[in-house]
Amino acid sequence: MPTVAKMQQTEKLLIRKAQLETFETEILTLEAGEKLDSKSRLFSFSPNLDCDGVLRIHGRTERAANLGSTTKCPALLDPDHKLTILLVDKYHVDAHHQEQEFVLNELRQRYWILRGRQAVRSSWSRFLLCSQHGATPTTNEMASLPECRLRALVYTCRSGFFQANHCHSWTSS
Ligand SMILES: [Zn+2]
Repeated sequence: MPTVAKMQQTEKLLIRKAQLETFETEILTLEAGEKLDSKSRLFSFSPNLDCDGVLRIHGRTERAANLGSTTKCPALLDPDHKLTILLVDKYHVDAHHQEQEFVLNELRQRYWILRGRQAVRSSWSRFLLCSQHGATPTTNEMASLPECRLRALVYTCRSGFFQANHCHSWTSS
């Protein structure tokens, strides 16, 4: 069973690898202590490399004392990289296919995906049910209780044996 520290280390390595595959020029520039080219797609983010060489942006919550360092400085990711796609799909499933905005906010606790909203929207199209139903989660309507169960419920409440009989009334029919 891998430890939390081991998993965090592996995650950093995977992110670093994905970043090298997509932002190599920017990483090499920053490692050389130089400023990013104004034409770079990362220029407006003013990213920095952390002590593990992971490219991070300074979020707007940087001064918040109650937030972890990954939330304050999320790691930059390219939306088209395989790792990003897997991460977005994982957050999508973990969120039980809820709203896209929720998934995006959860992702942004740790990662800053370029064109993030679009990346999350793309995830919806990869899941058959979500693509068919759009972004609107379906909720099941609660059916009314049949009359016989209602009568049993009223009776058991009055007779003072609610707990035992209530359970019985649900399982016996
Ligand atoms: Zn879904």
